[in-house]
Amino acid sequence: MIPPGIALLKGTSFHRAAEANMEQKLTTHRDLPAEEIVEIAVANFEQEAAGDILLTDEEASRGPAVVLGEAKDQLAELAETHAKQQAPEYQPALVEKSVRIELPEAPRDLVGIIDLVDDRGRVIDFKTATRRRSQSDADSSVQLTVYAAAYECLHGVPPTELRLDCVVQTKTQTTRQVLATHRSREDFAALARRINAVTAAIEAGVFPPTNPGNWWCSPTFCGYWHDCPYRPRTAG
Ligand code: SF4
Repeated sequence: MIPPGIALLKGTSFHRAAEANMEQKLTTHRDLPAEEIVEIAVANFEQEAAGDILLTDEEASRGPAVVLGEAKDQLAELAETHAKQQAPEYQPALVEKSVRIELPEAPRDLVGIIDLVDDRGRVIDFKTATRRRSQSDADSSVQLTVYAAAYECLHGVPPTELRLDCVVQTKTQTTRQVLATHRSREDFAALARRINAVTAAIEAGVFPPTNPGNWWCSPTFCGYWHDCPYRPRTAG
């Protein structure tokens, strides 16, 4: 089992704090204080970082204590931005809702877990990023297509909007970026064909490598980076 990297731990801890706040907001209709949301994120990070973690070569050369300290500060800022700018905008209707989607002509169903649906019928995906996303990131996101299909399975109508709600943290600033998008029946049909193609490949013992341009195909996020024969050789 490959341990998680620091960037992954930061993202996971951010999501745990957002989820904890939205869970309680379902009934209280109030956000937790920003300091409490930050505390949840940082406590989760510390707990996870106490186990095995994977350091990139660059992180190892700077030393785990330094890198973990920096990551904790960055996470606190991410969580504070979430608490002050993202969370107040949403009254949750569903949090971490698991939905089974039956796929005709496929040997298996698809199970999707929607992070957040608000009381205005919007499906929201909270993200952290180190650069601003483009509109095409939202329009082509397979994750958002799955969320849209899951929502429609649950409610019988499409969501009013799909959102990538990002906290973008660069070396100099931390800001919020919202990208809205929608999906059509044709998008669902394309998704089903994609799932069928991938399922057939896996059953045939073929595991196609991801697009090397994807953000997770990097030494920061992929634990298989050093052993992977497909990784881009000029990237690290
Ligand atoms: S490095 Fe290899 S295993 Fe990791 S994401 Fe890229 S292609 Fe996949």
